[in-house]
Amino acid sequence: MALDDVRMRGFRRRWDAHQARQQLLERITALGAEEVSLWEAVGRILAEDVASPMDVPYFDRAAMDGYAVRGEETFGASSYSPVSFRLVGESLPGRPCPRALAPGETVRIMTGAPLPEGADTVVRAELALEQGTVVQVLEAVPPGKSVSRRGEDVQAGNLLLSRGRRLRPQDVAILAAAGLSRIPVIRQPRVAVLITGDELMPLGAHLSNFRIIDSNSVMLDALIRRDGGLPMHGDLVPDQRETLRQRLKEACEAAEVVLISGGSSVGREDYAPLLVAELGELLVHGVAMRPSSPTGLGWIAGRPVILLPGNPVSCLCAYDFFARPAICRLAGRSTAWPYRQVCLPLAAKISSELGRLDYVRVRIRNHQVEPIATSGASILSTTTQADGFVLVPPESEGYAAGQTVPVYLYDEEESHILEQ
Ligand code: AMP
Ligand code: MG
Repeated sequence: MALDDVRMRGFRRRWDAHQARQQLLERITALGAEEVSLWEAVGRILAEDVASPMDVPYFDRAAMDGYAVRGEETFGASSYSPVSFRLVGESLPGRPCPRALAPGETVRIMTGAPLPEGADTVVRAELALEQGTVVQVLEAVPPGKSVSRRGEDVQAGNLLLSRGRRLRPQDVAILAAAGLSRIPVIRQPRVAVLITGDELMPLGAHLSNFRIIDSNSVMLDALIRRDGGLPMHGDLVPDQRETLRQRLKEACEAAEVVLISGGSSVGREDYAPLLVAELGELLVHGVAMRPSSPTGLGWIAGRPVILLPGNPVSCLCAYDFFARPAICRLAGRSTAWPYRQVCLPLAAKISSELGRLDYVRVRIRNHQVEPIATSGASILSTTTQADGFVLVPPESEGYAAGQTVPVYLYDEEESHILEQ
């Protein structure tokens, strides 16, 4: 694909953020299935409808501790005129009574134990008196009482869970109860992360010579995991065209999504956009949003390649806006924002430019939304001080003080914030 070299010239046009995202997402569908054990299945996305292969429970069992009898034989019983039964055995969970009940007989039975043949009800222990080999029943108990019937929970052939379900702890329990141990789930996309920048040093390095620590990789790692991807990290990539080309090619072979941090803009050493265009297709470069305008979106060998600006705030915002939905869609998950929304009035106005989407970090104090004044994309602490963010859409020039706006909260638990 022919490409304008925008380096040191700037973007000629910027893409609308939603259109840009649409460009990327319309080509992405969920990955195929793999089988996993139920031990690993929580949080994964079910790839197929699952029906129960059996009735649960698959036998009639006691729902209470007591005595198994034929219900109709208790009719007329009261504490004044109890009905007596012969105690002929015991049924325990997993250790049933081997013989059937003859008329006038009972067996002691514990919750979860199979009902002996001939019995149809359980008299709760409180309603009976056991004396040697005789059990006196003090109340009439209708057939079926305190019995959990075969198939009461789930019947063979019933749909247990539908395709697309994000599995909860109780979901794996019901699958286990129905006798399943492995289930088909959508594969997790492998996400290659290429961190570029000659100035970068790895986590914990001793800094010298004006270098800085690469803080994006730990953040991206957590975001990718949150969204159901499997992050793949390699060594930091220097700002060298050939090295980046090689690493990009390798990444496209090893992963289903490639993220490149840094080198996505119009600087002299920003090779990523050129290389994506050279090796594949650069769909979008330059987006009308703040921060994150130097974002790029492309496609190499059937893999989405997302160019994230190196500035940490932009990197977070561009990840959430573009990489997140791409990874979620591959993983079979919803692309909706993973942040809870609250609507509260603004303590101060937010100004924005028409035609640009703004990601404004905000604090919540006294049930009001306070925009954080410093807006620089390199000021990472604005995101740690923020409780969440407000999006100002391109068609808006901002919001007036006092206006109620939706806030996306970074934390799932909002109550502590709303009390501040
Ligand atoms: P770039 O997008 O490569 O032009 O980088 C923009 C700014 O972000 C520069 O100040 C970089 O030093 C900084 N930066 C780039 N990558 C990272 C990173 N991985 N961690 C922290 N800061 C970075
Ligand atoms: Mg750079």
